[in-house]
Amino acid sequence: MMQPHLFHIYAFDDALLLPPKSVKNQNGKMYKIYTPFRHAFLSRLALTDFQSLPKPKPRTQNITIEKITSLFEYTVINIAPNFPAGEFAALKKLEKFCHDIVQHYQEHRDIPALDGTSQLSPYLAIGVLSPRQCLNQLIAKNPQVFNTINSGSFTWLNELIWREFYHHLLVTFPGLCCHQPFIPWTQCIPWSTSKIYFEIWKKGLTGYPIVDAGMRQLNAIGWMHNRVRMISASFLTKDLLINWRLGEKYFMQQLIDGTLAANNGGWQWAASTGVDASPWFRIFNPTTQGKKFDPQGKFVRAWLPELRVVPDKYIHTPHEWATKNRIALNYPTPIVNHQHARLITLNAFKTGKLKHSTIYLKYHKYF
Ligand SMILES: Cc1cc2nc3c(=O)[nH]c(=O)nc-3n(C[C@H](O)[C@H](O)[C@H](O)COP(=O)(O)OP(=O)(O)OC[C@H]3O[C@@H](n4cnc5c(N)ncnc54)[C@H](O)[C@@H]3O)c2cc1C
Repeated sequence: MMQPHLFHIYAFDDALLLPPKSVKNQNGKMYKIYTPFRHAFLSRLALTDFQSLPKPKPRTQNITIEKITSLFEYTVINIAPNFPAGEFAALKKLEKFCHDIVQHYQEHRDIPALDGTSQLSPYLAIGVLSPRQCLNQLIAKNPQVFNTINSGSFTWLNELIWREFYHHLLVTFPGLCCHQPFIPWTQCIPWSTSKIYFEIWKKGLTGYPIVDAGMRQLNAIGWMHNRVRMISASFLTKDLLINWRLGEKYFMQQLIDGTLAANNGGWQWAASTGVDASPWFRIFNPTTQGKKFDPQGKFVRAWLPELRVVPDKYIHTPHEWATKNRIALNYPTPIVNHQHARLITLNAFKTGKLKHSTIYLKYHKYF
């Protein structure tokens, strides 16, 4: 009789710095606001050994592993230069970031024209890098990180903790994995059913340059700058009043760093349906956001070649310039008027709130 093979399985908590459900408030519950979660998280982390473990020994010497050159070569060829394959490349990128770029992270992180963020999300998403490796490298290069709350290094640590926060939430509130909003009344928002607007947004043809540049970046390289993700998600949900679930799904299809927790968290934040989300009555103005975070239009011009001729002053309102100068632009006029769309959205949210409280009252009358 053949002997069964014996395998040893070792389990490690590695995808996160601290396991879900290990950071709780005084009532033993998960935090629903980020800042107190961060305080508790840091206190807990201080008591934890988060050293990276050494590489395990290979179990057999006889495996030939085919070498690949780009992490995502099977999807989009353009991605390769930004995201070279392998742990060695990822570690080099991490080291350079923690030594150098992180010093200016606080000032540069919201400017999409700059390489001011780590661009490590794809490696973290698929486990090429672990958050422990990130934290240990950050501390090695910036030993004061925990004591300098206004530094670039602490600001970056804060982002790693947002990543933890969204994962912990997903485990605590599994409804989030099942298309449920965190705030129940937002179930009743009457979203628009316009398929045409959704397609236009996907293609980056809305007529709002910062939104379109972001969507073209996403479609071309499978990654989008965080500030632009926020603007683009806000535009879909608050200017076009399209259900956040559709945007979430499209991002997940396109992103090479797509992760359920962060993507769902980001979308529910932008749509004001989530935990510690942007308040529903505060709506980003895409033109103002563009002017603020891409004042010279460097990011916009990089992704919208048709706007290269437009002067800086008008880069976020190109048709104003084109009309004044009687120039025909090969770029769409804005798909909606932002001020008008904003009012429609505010009304839709009020309607949703009212509808939910009516259903709630009706239900409680009988039970
Ligand atoms: C609508 C929307 C969708 C998003 N979808 C995803 C997604 O699918 N996958 C993903 O990893 N991030 C997502 N994010 C968060 C954020 O945009 C990306 O993590 C970030 O842009 C990645 O670039 P980076 O590696 O240069 O980040 P850095 O600024 O260098 O941050 C370091 C790391 O922290 C984590 N991180 C940073 N910001 C956030 C955040 N707001 N929430 C959670 N984790 C964060 C990421 O792992 C990131 O690699 C989304 C944000 C929004 C608004």
